[in-house]
Amino acid sequence: MKYINNNLKIENLYFKNLAIKFGTPLYCYSHKKLKQNINDFKLNFKTFSPLICFATKANSNLKILKEIKKNGLGADVVSKGELMKALKAGINSKKIVFSGVGKTSEELSYAIDKNILLINSESKSEVLEIEKIAKSKKKIVDIGIRLNPNTDANTLKQISTGKKENKFGVNEKTFIEIFKIIKNKKNINLKCLSVHIGSQILDYRPYEKMLKAVSKLIKKIKFDFEFIDLGGGMGISYENNKKKLNYEKYNQAIKNFLKKHNSKIIFEPGRSIIGNAGVLITKIIYIKENPKKNFIILDAAMNDLMRPALYGARHQIIPITKNKKKSKKTYDFVGPICETTDKFLSTNNFQKLSEKDLLIICDTGAYGSSLGSNYNVRPNPAEILIKGSKLIVIKKRQKLKDLI
Ligand SMILES: *Cc1c(COP(=O)(O)O)cnc(C)c1O
Repeated sequence: MKYINNNLKIENLYFKNLAIKFGTPLYCYSHKKLKQNINDFKLNFKTFSPLICFATKANSNLKILKEIKKNGLGADVVSKGELMKALKAGINSKKIVFSGVGKTSEELSYAIDKNILLINSESKSEVLEIEKIAKSKKKIVDIGIRLNPNTDANTLKQISTGKKENKFGVNEKTFIEIFKIIKNKKNINLKCLSVHIGSQILDYRPYEKMLKAVSKLIKKIKFDFEFIDLGGGMGISYENNKKKLNYEKYNQAIKNFLKKHNSKIIFEPGRSIIGNAGVLITKIIYIKENPKKNFIILDAAMNDLMRPALYGARHQIIPITKNKKKSKKTYDFVGPICETTDKFLSTNNFQKLSEKDLLIICDTGAYGSSLGSNYNVRPNPAEILIKGSKLIVIKKRQKLKDLI
């Protein structure tokens, strides 16, 4: 994105024209950025060529999944619905892993029928359920067990998943217990140890600790896993503070790990692939003044982009048309929904704004649209993908008649 004569452009298109053509709120993605993120991710870990399974929950738009597939990635899914979408996007079932703490018998049965690469299990009960279903289908199913390494990911507590108080995975003791049970089961084949300690991680050290915990367990049980699935969680820079995950250090830590353990590495990145490849275009409905601050009431709300309301995430907001006038007041950018948490950002030093002005909420490609809801009976926004000279509607704006 860049400003030309104070007007913001994405690639060779003016946001203003997109807003006029498609209306607001509007999700807008850049194919170029998506491709660049995928290539960067591959380059960061090229020495051991991991299997990269895109975390479908970050953005499950079918067209986006198809683009991701074209770039050679597999998928990490967490429900039957996501698995169906990944398959529909043409992703090879041998590049799909199924994660999640509570997969139902129906979901497991479907996954087994589709012969996916791995079902990563998170409890003893689930492992036994997989064995039962596999037996009834006379199949041998490849599984992983997710270790909870009790590692603090140093991220927002709501998106931390690898500490012992979190519901995810099993602790070392339970892992060993399950490991012993599996040895005597004919219909399941233990192929993978998986971990995923959280999301929006910007410090490589938690990953180092996680690898240590994995290494320690492997030594204890003396078992060679065909796959080590390290999950995702790589953070992106939401605010202009240039903070970045040190991929070199993470890469080095994995290379050291692989000197001792001969396994194929799997990653499940979501945010780092699609997060900064999408934005949300929104229009100011009203400006409500009060002595201390102005409420900038937008036509986008928490149902369109839930991260700020859900865990206090901050997304940068920028104007589509720049002016030189600074406002002295605090601006609270809010949505029209009847919840106090329906607020995107509070900021000072913003330029002077007027009703009907257009704004961009940045870095909304991951956990934006996919977390959307119809709360307050609000239809979901349209979504477009810019691909070279083409502009593709990848999701039509929902109509009220679909909701009523
Ligand atoms: C959410 C999730 C991911 C993706 O996390 P990102 O932070 O988007 O990279 C990967 N693996 C599992 C098991 C997840 O639940």
